Amino acid sequence: QKRVYMFAEGRIDQKELLGNKGANLCEMSRLGLPVPPGFVITTTTCLDFFEAKKKMPLGLKEEYLTALAQVEKQAGKKFGDKSNPLLLSVRSGAAVSMPGMMDTVLSLGLNDEIVAALVESTGNKKWAFDCYRRLIQMYQNVVLGKSTDPYEEVIKKMKVAKGYKYDMQMSGEDWEEVVRQFKGLGEALPTDPHEQLETAIAAVFNSWFTPRAVRYREYNNIQGLLGTACNVQTMVFGNKSADSGTGVAFTRNPATGENVFFGEYLEQAQGEDVVSGVRTPHSLAFLQQHMPEAYQELDKYQRLLETHFRDMQDLEFSVEDRKLYMLQTRTGKRTAKASVQIAVDMVAEGMITEQEALLRIDPERMNYFLHPTVDTKAPKTVLGKGLPASPGAATGAVVFSPEVAETMVKGDPNVKLILVRTETTADDIHGMRAATGIVTENGGMTSHAAVVARGMGKCCVAGAHTLHVDVEGKQFITKDGTVIKEGDVITLDGATGLVLLGDVPRMPPGADACFQTLMGWAHKHSRLAVAANADSPEDARVALSYGATGIGLCRTEHMFFPPERIDIMREMILAETEKERQKALDRLFAFQKADMRAMFEVMTGKHVTIRLLDPPLHEFLPTNHHDAEALAARIGKPVETVLREISDLKEANPMLGFRGCRLTIKFPEITLMQVRAIIMAAVEARAGGAVVHPEIMIPLVATSTELEVIVPLVEAEIRKIFAESGGITVPYRLGTMVEVPRACLTAEKIAPFVSFISFGTNDLTQMTWGFSRDDVSHFLPQYLEKKVIHADPFVSIDEEGVGQLIKMTTDKMKTQKNGGSFTAGICGEHGGDPASVAFFSRAGLDYPHNQPSKRSLQKRKAKEMKS
Ligand code: PEP
Ligand code: MG
Repeated sequence: QKRVYMFAEGRIDQKELLGNKGANLCEMSRLGLPVPPGFVITTTTCLDFFEAKKKMPLGLKEEYLTALAQVEKQAGKKFGDKSNPLLLSVRSGAAVSMPGMMDTVLSLGLNDEIVAALVESTGNKKWAFDCYRRLIQMYQNVVLGKSTDPYEEVIKKMKVAKGYKYDMQMSGEDWEEVVRQFKGLGEALPTDPHEQLETAIAAVFNSWFTPRAVRYREYNNIQGLLGTACNVQTMVFGNKSADSGTGVAFTRNPATGENVFFGEYLEQAQGEDVVSGVRTPHSLAFLQQHMPEAYQELDKYQRLLETHFRDMQDLEFSVEDRKLYMLQTRTGKRTAKASVQIAVDMVAEGMITEQEALLRIDPERMNYFLHPTVDTKAPKTVLGKGLPASPGAATGAVVFSPEVAETMVKGDPNVKLILVRTETTADDIHGMRAATGIVTENGGMTSHAAVVARGMGKCCVAGAHTLHVDVEGKQFITKDGTVIKEGDVITLDGATGLVLLGDVPRMPPGADACFQTLMGWAHKHSRLAVAANADSPEDARVALSYGATGIGLCRTEHMFFPPERIDIMREMILAETEKERQKALDRLFAFQKADMRAMFEVMTGKHVTIRLLDPPLHEFLPTNHHDAEALAARIGKPVETVLREISDLKEANPMLGFRGCRLTIKFPEITLMQVRAIIMAAVEARAGGAVVHPEIMIPLVATSTELEVIVPLVEAEIRKIFAESGGITVPYRLGTMVEVPRACLTAEKIAPFVSFISFGTNDLTQMTWGFSRDDVSHFLPQYLEKKVIHADPFVSIDEEGVGQLIKMTTDKMKTQKNGGSFTAGICGEHGGDPASVAFFSRAGLDYPHNQPSKRSLQKRKAKEMKS
């Protein structure tokens, strides 16, 4: 088993074995870039290290010493040598990048004698002792697991005594003195360089299981990795001289996606100085000005690397005495906006295909485009910055009290307010609801304000620490002393966490041109189409504007909830005689037909799937005494009678109760009213010039025999309407929702009755698991915490169980139907979960693929014109 790969031996496709960093270093070396010589110890060795109870696996040392000899040859220096010493870095790097989670030790190979020799040979005492003190500190921290606070204290004291602001100002003698003072502090650094190297390699492997690394993998759902690789590499020194430095760069702007080389450079520094943020780095223009040759070389490599990897790269480099070294390249992390901009640009540049561009986009992050955004080009005055806790953009007058916010919005629903608080609690909910945006001085991404705002779909900036919020004084003060008082207008940018002065222009959701281009490609290349869940013409219009190909679920019960309708619904439910019930139904019919006609008109040319009444009837009934009294008065019954009737309709398990198609079996007249309203609305809409495709969906079917009763009933009613409609008919389909496991198990018997099915994955999950979807929160958190289950099955489809039913049902139905126009879709909440959608695609769902094509629509229009 080969455990050690020289940089020249490894390849980019060996990330699993060499880690992301290692494989990239190998690839850069192979491309001929100036990578300091080194080698990679494989991830499998890390696994073996833990299997051997944290001992170096047999043969490893011999193998890495052989590799080290080659590195010494390439570098022209020798590890542990007193006259011309080689210094090494030892870095972690798993197959998936886990930034900052695992360990690194730099400048290994120094001891008192070697550092003295180094001073002697280079004449650079300041640099030599700076390296030495860094090694001592890192070794304490990383290898010995001790705090470096006492060490930092020594340095701080020295700087105060000398009146320095920056480490950079320390002289060689200062660092030498620091090292001397370090000696008394902790466990001593081994003087043998080889012992330093061996213990550092072990420390890197050990860092695979540090709590923060384990948590990071858990949090990011990183599974199945072998361990970390260990990269051993010749040190180069950005802290060596004024002509040295270090930097990070992105081949394109990671925030906006703009195609400009973008980066930061810090002179006389090592990587950790850039990361720590103590000194503020310069832009790359500084490097270009001071060392144009190094800059030009870097620019050449960044182009080469981006072209080679065909994606935006995140680079690390160092300059040592004006010579450039490349230390790292990896795929650069970027904002949602940049990810889309870069993907679209790269297609235009011919670098990637449209399909590749689509596959590079994380669907979860496209939420960003579904909210208004602050116009990036607009001029801005920044008041402060917090965490982008909930996306969107909001402009409004500042208000500090939730009560005031609520009262103002009640007075004028169009008023736009930004609620500003130190932090929010459950007592502030009414104010948050009234506001268009929320800012808090304290709190993180999971603070009350952040969580509640996300739930409400409102823009929120949390933890804007530089704002001093004075709720009592009704004002907040910015870092530079600007005072913002109640009533002043500010704008929040939920994408960046910026708090801005005044009314900054915003872009409506989805307006980003690149996003539109990308969505166009998604439509072009997708096999599955997206229909919307919408119950009103307004929602249907919004869905259309986002490119919905139709309505996949219109829950008709939602049409009966407005106040003037629910009363009639209640009358219908509590009717004593069929005649009474019919009277109420006739009134409901008028509403239902008008609604459906409006839906068909909005959705002209597209299919509309209408589900017959589904919920348990008691959901429509009054829940308190006051409402029950009012109802009793209206329908002329004693309140006791009404209360008794309501209580009679109560069920122990309403979700397993009198609902869905069970209503049709008992009260066919309700279904007939609905079918009449839907089909007559379709006929009228068609007469008015709309192209209609009603699809009637029967909910909660458990056995084919239910359909045996219902389908003929529905079809007879439709035939009757067509007979009355003066020759106007409409193409329609009858289908069912599959949401009861028994329907899945008997799919082949159900298939003959329907032209389409749609999985109601909410109920199917509920009934397959036996978890009440309304009460699951009582124990779900513990199930997740104790890893009894790994994800909420109501959010992401349970492939193993519910998924099996879906796959089986789809297969059975398709075989039974033998292709044709039969379609299978899904209308539960899982339709909005990217991972679930990927599964549905694999399971063979295709609904609604048989959209009326443009051609068939034109044909039909022509035919209609003729007749
Ligand atoms: C479902 O059960 O998945 C579904 C879409 O219906 P509802 O949520 O209305 O029960
Ligand atoms: Mg359902």
